Amino acid sequence: MFKVWIDAGHGGKDPGAVGNGVQEKDIALKVSLGIKDRLEAEYENVQVLLSRSTDVFLELKERTSKANTAGADILVSIHCNAGGGKGGFESFRYTSASQNSIKLQNALHKAITGEVGGIDRGIKAQNLHMVRESKMPAVLTENLFVDVAADADRLKQASVINAIIDGHVQGIASYLGLKRKAGEDKPVTQERDINVPSKWAEVVWADLTDKGYFDGSRPGAPITREEMAVVVSRLLNNIKK
Ligand SMILES: [Zn+2]
Repeated sequence: MFKVWIDAGHGGKDPGAVGNGVQEKDIALKVSLGIKDRLEAEYENVQVLLSRSTDVFLELKERTSKANTAGADILVSIHCNAGGGKGGFESFRYTSASQNSIKLQNALHKAITGEVGGIDRGIKAQNLHMVRESKMPAVLTENLFVDVAADADRLKQASVINAIIDGHVQGIASYLGLKRKAGEDKPVTQERDINVPSKWAEVVWADLTDKGYFDGSRPGAPITREEMAVVVSRLLNNIKK
């Protein structure tokens, strides 16, 4: 069972970047919960652990030590950007990252930019706590700018949040080589149309409709006792003749 650690940046008293009616901590939490839901629902053999699943404050140190103690296989820290950009997406690994961190970053970056579109600010390395102190391959994603109006507008759209979630899910699944769960193989049962006679009954239905026993409507519907009485009465009348 693979253990994926998803770290929603900021939280509680620390809103992260704020702008245009968007708080970074809220986006980070939404995306994190979405990644857990989708990854566990759609892929086999994977468990997603979260730094936080509610709006609470955590020190950076708590986040990495929890992930290290849990023995997570990878860590992805979710953030939004602000402060002097034109908008877009960028990802970070540690400045002297492992080969696996670079592989994870490449997989995530490709999948997220593919899903989200917009400006690609590049695959970057920086001395950040979350990617430095994590013992496992670790990447931090900066998902659009809350202080760029066009990006903030996008972050308010459910379809864009979904695209960010999808990109992360695809990148993680691709890096870990996760297998998709088989679709539930429900047999496809064809609902019958009660207004069309079954093939085997076509001739008889047409004949008895012609003879006036039935009015020709709803051949596939169940019959009531009173409808049956009408049919029997018509039959008896015909026999008497
Ligand atoms: Zn942040």
